[in-house]
Amino acid sequence: MIRTVVTCDATACMALYIPPVDCGADVLERAARSLGWKRRTATAHACPSCLTGTGPVLELGECPTCAGRTVDLAEGAVCHYCGTVTEHPAEDDL
Ligand SMILES: [Zn+2]
Ligand SMILES: [Zn+2]
Repeated sequence: MIRTVVTCDATACMALYIPPVDCGADVLERAARSLGWKRRTATAHACPSCLTGTGPVLELGECPTCAGRTVDLAEGAVCHYCGTVTEHPAEDDL
């Protein structure tokens, strides 16, 4: 399967944004921007972690924003890099 993704252009940064559904470049661009990604040039992007100084992303994991490694905390899975919190699925509350 070929999917359009947004990658970070910083050296050594492995961040990437994979859209939940495959979509066109315009939609992808808007979705990435709403999560904190920034377009640098027509083809180059910077990830939220690099923009806020918490990057570069060196380990990949489950983060929906930058695909970085997450740490499981009480409030959810917190991204080690960009700080995105993904709430645990409801079944964890049982
Ligand atoms: Zn980055
Ligand atoms: Zn992240």
